[in-house]
Amino acid sequence: MAPLPDSVRVAVRGWLNCNQVVLRSAAGHVLVDSGYAACADETLARLREPGMLGADSLARLVNTHCHSDHIGGNAAVARAYGCPITIPRDEVPTIDDWSIQERWNAYVDQYAEPFAYQATIAAGESFRAADRVWEAHAAPGHDMEGLMFFAPEGGILISGDALWADGLGFVWAHDPPNPFVEAALQALDTIERLRPRVVIPGHGEPFEDVGGALAKARSRLAAFANDPRRTARHMMKVMFVFSMLHRGGIAIAEANRYVESVPCYRDLDERFLGEGIDGLGLRLVADLERAGAMRVADGFARPTMAR
Ligand SMILES: [Zn+2]
Repeated sequence: MAPLPDSVRVAVRGWLNCNQVVLRSAAGHVLVDSGYAACADETLARLREPGMLGADSLARLVNTHCHSDHIGGNAAVARAYGCPITIPRDEVPTIDDWSIQERWNAYVDQYAEPFAYQATIAAGESFRAADRVWEAHAAPGHDMEGLMFFAPEGGILISGDALWADGLGFVWAHDPPNPFVEAALQALDTIERLRPRVVIPGHGEPFEDVGGALAKARSRLAAFANDPRRTARHMMKVMFVFSMLHRGGIAIAEANRYVESVPCYRDLDERFLGEGIDGLGLRLVADLERAGAMRVADGFARPTMAR
């Protein structure tokens, strides 16, 4: 793992759960992002590990963005630690009206537990944790309202899903010019300007090869920019494998029926592909198996990646 000060601790999770970052100081420990709701017990257990919080309390939870794999454990963390929660200011409408979360989660077959927040943070603002200042910077693209947090002291960036070692969080399909791709490129430009020494991504190990990661992310976005069909197919695969991670997999015989029952697949197909969704479940399983993301055995398809 890339070298980090002892006050910055990371529980590297998988693809259903984002990483948990604990920023430790005598003034109170701060947690960034809480994982997926179904794994909240595991998240709390990881936080109690001696390398994270141990038996210490938590002073605050801050979210990079309000997707189900980053806020799903918010309610459980608040129950366990009684700590206030800070969310990005521009996410407020999607949390105050929880029916927006419910509609989205029904659209893609995900789940998040409702929670109450006590504070907000916006780009240009900052907070103190781990004995240093963390600046909030806009991280649009994957989530147009998302933030990333940068500590100039030590050059540490908590990037959420704006930049991973090997890419970035999915961007929405859109006819060109794709505003989500444009926004994601802006976030990458911000990262380049900040020149972090080390990046703690929302998923995957912390890494130091920021130039390499930026190049990979830009080339992915270039491939999506003018190709809404490719972007839509990619989104379908990402949504499908994510749901399979929280469902534990699916019987091959059920795959087509499942895809027909989750609205995002029909919607993406109608808007961008026009191929019809007959047999789409099996096609997604086959594509994901070929990519090594799922394994089929005894009539059952399971994701291969860590939860
Ligand atoms: Zn994520």
